[in-house]
Amino acid sequence: MNELVNSIRERYLGTLDKISAAAKRSGRGAEAVKLVVVTKAQPVETARAAVGAGCLILGENYAEEGVTKIQSLANFSAVEWHMIGHVQSRKAQMVAGNFNFMHSLDSLKLAKRLDRFCAEAGRVLPVLLEFNVGGEESKGGWDASDESRWAELSGEFSEIFSLPNLRARGLMTMPPLGGDAGASRPYFIKLRRLRDFLSSRFPQVDLGELSMGTSSDFEVAVEEGATYVRVGAAIVGARHYNTENA
Ligand SMILES: *Cc1c(COP(=O)(O)O)cnc(C)c1O
Repeated sequence: MNELVNSIRERYLGTLDKISAAAKRSGRGAEAVKLVVVTKAQPVETARAAVGAGCLILGENYAEEGVTKIQSLANFSAVEWHMIGHVQSRKAQMVAGNFNFMHSLDSLKLAKRLDRFCAEAGRVLPVLLEFNVGGEESKGGWDASDESRWAELSGEFSEIFSLPNLRARGLMTMPPLGGDAGASRPYFIKLRRLRDFLSSRFPQVDLGELSMGTSSDFEVAVEEGATYVRVGAAIVGARHYNTENA
């Protein structure tokens, strides 16, 4: 068993323990929260080591990079691959044909393209709607910073919910960076409240999943109701290149 596998396993299990403790604080069991191990900007060997360490869900931000890893590790069929980054329209086919789950659906246009390519591939893709709850210019997702405009926002969603090859399962957000973990809490609360708002408008859609929290703030996210956390650096170590502007 090599050193990389051991160190990832140790940090993976430590992260699961923290998730479990935070879930209890929110009145839930550990099984209510799923851990996505983010291997973006890491070599294939690191993703392979994560699988060897027992990680069950891997998250990738870039379509090509993700597909390279998916193909390299195709014999590990129990692993789920989740797209967590912004997907350009021209990459929709690649995502529809290869990923098991998408956290980062951020436009009706992309939804329609994914639906079409899923139909061609004979697949149904579970998706989360990504929201920008902090109102930062640079962030992806539907702008949900202004609560008084939530009602206007929901116009596009009925169309997305009716697409036959996508299954909306919940919401995702990435809060503003830079604060401490506590600084993220109001954004996590806001995403949960937005989910409750959309659920009341679309009672026929099960929006049970909340994907929120990264290495720096996943415990707070779990306390506020996260069902998916997306943790990279704290488990697989520092990234090998800067992805902020990629
Ligand atoms: C990179 C990334 C993560 C993981 O961030 P870490 O700080 O490495 O835990 C989670 N979610 C998204 C959308 C990301 O881009």
